Amino acid sequence: MKLYADLHIHSCLSPCGDELMTPNNIVNMALLKGLDIIAVSDHNTCGNLSAVCSVAAQNGLTVIPAMEMETMEEVHTLAYFATLEDALSFSDEIYTYLPSVANNPDFFGRQLYMNDDDEIVAQEPKLLLSALSITVEEGFEMVKKHNGIAVPAHIDRPSHGMIPILGFINPHLGVTCVEVSPIGIAQGFAQYDPRLLTITNSDAHDLGSILEPIHQIELEQNTPEAFLEMLRRGKA
Ligand SMILES: [Zn+2]
Ligand SMILES: [Zn+2]
Repeated sequence: MKLYADLHIHSCLSPCGDELMTPNNIVNMALLKGLDIIAVSDHNTCGNLSAVCSVAAQNGLTVIPAMEMETMEEVHTLAYFATLEDALSFSDEIYTYLPSVANNPDFFGRQLYMNDDDEIVAQEPKLLLSALSITVEEGFEMVKKHNGIAVPAHIDRPSHGMIPILGFINPHLGVTCVEVSPIGIAQGFAQYDPRLLTITNSDAHDLGSILEPIHQIELEQNTPEAFLEMLRRGKA
């Protein structure tokens, strides 16, 4: 089936995410826009996914548990999981590699943990926008260990994109799919390696930026498992 997707959205736990990016607002905006499947991927954490997944389940929207990790090269990689449990165990391990740098909420924004009712239950004290003390290779291994699949994020972007920073996508990483930003699509980055699947997402930090129904993915079923299967298969 063809599904309208936006697989890179930040919640209010990301310091740069608008505080209106609450679990209920994200799910309701995605439904309002006519999306079938989304992923919420905060910087270096899966801390709001329990609430997002529970709200989505109550409203019949499919959410893929995800994270956008920043490894020591300052490269961003999306990690996708079939289950919340896998995402949370991955997140716990990632947290141990997050530097102990305190967030400055006045400068970067607050980092809000929310429950199903969009109530603030806590604030993350460590700055989530830091680079982790692991390499891209180690990050990819860790995603795999927790049954996830890593997808280099916005590979075209001068800031945090794998190609401008590292110069190429190392074949040893076993990448099957890359995210290209809408600008990168116009610049031809989807043709970087014709063997790779390409996805394009909003990277929304505010509600209005969540995608209109414009990008479709083809899955056997509308489930996170089927999405992971698509990534695993790659461009067969
Ligand atoms: Zn990014
Ligand atoms: Zn992002």
